[in-house]
Amino acid sequence: MRTASVLSLLVLLAGFVMLSGCGAGEAEDGQAEPASTEARERYTIVATVGMVADVVRNVAGERAEVVGLMDSGVDPHLFKPTRDDVRRLMEADIIFYNGLLLEGKMADSLIRAATSGKPVHAVTELLDEQYLLQPEAFDGLYDPHVWMDPAAWTGTIDVVRAKLAEFDPEGEAEYEANALAYEQRLQELDAYAQRVLASVPEAQRVLVTAHDAFNYFGRRFGYEVLGIQGISTESEAGVRDIERLVDLLVDRQIGAVFVESTVSERNINALIAGARARGHEVIIGGELYSDAMGASGTYEGTYIGMIDHNATTIARALGGEAPSGGLNDKLSQ
Ligand code: ZN
Repeated sequence: MRTASVLSLLVLLAGFVMLSGCGAGEAEDGQAEPASTEARERYTIVATVGMVADVVRNVAGERAEVVGLMDSGVDPHLFKPTRDDVRRLMEADIIFYNGLLLEGKMADSLIRAATSGKPVHAVTELLDEQYLLQPEAFDGLYDPHVWMDPAAWTGTIDVVRAKLAEFDPEGEAEYEANALAYEQRLQELDAYAQRVLASVPEAQRVLVTAHDAFNYFGRRFGYEVLGIQGISTESEAGVRDIERLVDLLVDRQIGAVFVESTVSERNINALIAGARARGHEVIIGGELYSDAMGASGTYEGTYIGMIDHNATTIARALGGEAPSGGLNDKLSQ
């Protein structure tokens, strides 16, 4: 069952820390916290990306303060922790990260925290291999964007539950109840996404996006996924790639392509212009969340809101049926 990516130093390291065991610590964060009505002292968890922070927050409930290091719009592939971030990591009682090398530039800080004896865990570290993808473009490494498949991401809940119970045995029953409740909500999310994405005519189930974050999404929901990242319109090869994508949009009569906040507008425009020159109208179907959630404090700033937004936006843009407010009627339109 247990699958450690042999290629990932971070995962190995987390495994080592896990084996070395860790005791419950007292909350001793230096930051001033708003006075809690709870008499019990809360411990501090630091998580890297928002999606991981969200799982941890849901499982930890009231027992811990969860600090997410990366805000909305931050690219985890490129994120380098500042001195403040490193301080937060060193002050945390327990740390969770995605793993599978998503947080490549944070390796040093995570290793430092782990070697100082702090529990440091990758939420993907115990996922069964069947949940992981090794696309060709990743040179034999696992694709880290597991959250794009809500069913696979559900597997991270149990990792968090087990690690929190190990760290804070008194909270075990609470973590179990929280984990179960969150699992059910993710199942509802997955069922909703399945339903609305399946309402798109089969030939149109093609997702043209900016970068290669949607492989898990494609596998789960039966969509062909094509990324345009890396294609430069300045090179001959880039022009040919754009032409190939235009051919596909025209042949399959795909009506929409999608942007991420990091997409090059130029490539999208080249695609749209190319299709138009051949008499086929393509629109920008909307902006998708790929490696970061929406603004904190908004519905899209939660994992469920993020996936709801993506599924609803894609289904509606490609000719399927989905309520404009999404699963919970909370999407901003
Ligand atoms: Zn990515």
